[in-house]
Amino acid sequence: MKQIYLDYSATTPVKEEVVKEMMPYFTEQFGNPSSLYDIGAASKAAITAAREKVSRLINCKPSELYFTSGGTESDNWTLFGVTDALKKKGNHIITTQIEHHAILHSCDYLEKHGVDVTYLPVDKEGFVRAEDLEEAITDRTVLVSIMYVNNEVGTVQNIKELARIAHEHGVLFHTDAVQALGNVNCDVKALDVDFMSMSSHKIYGPKGVGALYIKRGSKISNYMHGGAQESKRRAGTENLPGIVGFGKAAELAGQNFDAHVAHCSKLRDHFIDRVTKEIDDVFVNGSRTHRHPGNANITFDYIEGESILLLLNQKGISVSTGSACSSASLTPSHVLTALGVPVEMIHGSVRFTFGDPTTMEDVDYVVDELKEIVAKLRKISAVSSEKGW
Ligand SMILES: *Cc1c(COP(=O)(O)O)cnc(C)c1O
Repeated sequence: MKQIYLDYSATTPVKEEVVKEMMPYFTEQFGNPSSLYDIGAASKAAITAAREKVSRLINCKPSELYFTSGGTESDNWTLFGVTDALKKKGNHIITTQIEHHAILHSCDYLEKHGVDVTYLPVDKEGFVRAEDLEEAITDRTVLVSIMYVNNEVGTVQNIKELARIAHEHGVLFHTDAVQALGNVNCDVKALDVDFMSMSSHKIYGPKGVGALYIKRGSKISNYMHGGAQESKRRAGTENLPGIVGFGKAAELAGQNFDAHVAHCSKLRDHFIDRVTKEIDDVFVNGSRTHRHPGNANITFDYIEGESILLLLNQKGISVSTGSACSSASLTPSHVLTALGVPVEMIHGSVRFTFGDPTTMEDVDYVVDELKEIVAKLRKISAVSSEKGW
């Protein structure tokens, strides 16, 4: 059966060039980067080269980039590290209701340990209002953390403006840019952020590796304790093949940026266009203008997103309902809830995310299947007789 993967926001396949670059670092080039003999130095040099590549993609100095085990660790490090380093200044942080669980669950933990957290609401397209941030900042606020691109609905925040507000009040600013990297401009100088989280497996690199940008001089305590790796700021023997792969993936993301964005947004727009024209009672969640190039989040009224997902799966098509992390539970998506989507409509929502390997043919095939599946499910839904289906 034909397999069509439309869940690129959950993870991406590792590009062949990336795998090729990584391979020697599992075998011949296995030396510990901290060892002083030649094969150790070769490993260290590979990490240095990878650091330069990722730094170039976000326009920072290599000395401001720290490799981690992924987006989750980068988010945890920032929240725990900044609240710890600045505990004499205050115990208040500001984030939003639509963050990834790597932020929200870290905030739960912080709240249990004496930190006050403000969760900013968003408007119906998922945008944080500048005035809400302005009002939430107090003289005890030590950090503002707002995601750049939302993983469920694809809304792209005006990070530059939000960071400016935080800085006007002398508050540090972090952004979770895991969904943004490679998809929107992540130039940390232009955005003027102090911390930025990244992950390799969302940009066609390997899983289990990511990075945290720390603007030079920004106050943050260490999170991982042990050896002197990463300029004594993130202990643990480096994930050498992973870091090499992340470096290559970042290099390719930079080179392919325009083509990738053009390709994905063309597929996305065609998909949204056909679905909204050819299927009744559908609603596009998120912003139509400031949106992740490969994201389409659609509510199909009167039916369950999970049922659509399972029937698409039977046809070899992979999609997700809300975020991959919450799909195991029946609690409605916190993101769609924050956008004010009514609970019964949340249950009918499906996320389709497109990537480099996706073709226009794939998109048309999925829309054709989707039309049949939606018609079938609506026929058996409770409101079918009332609606005359
Ligand atoms: C995937 C994701 C993460 C987690 O990154 P991992 O590398 O999987 O730990 C964090 N934030 C956002 C917005 C994500 O999409």
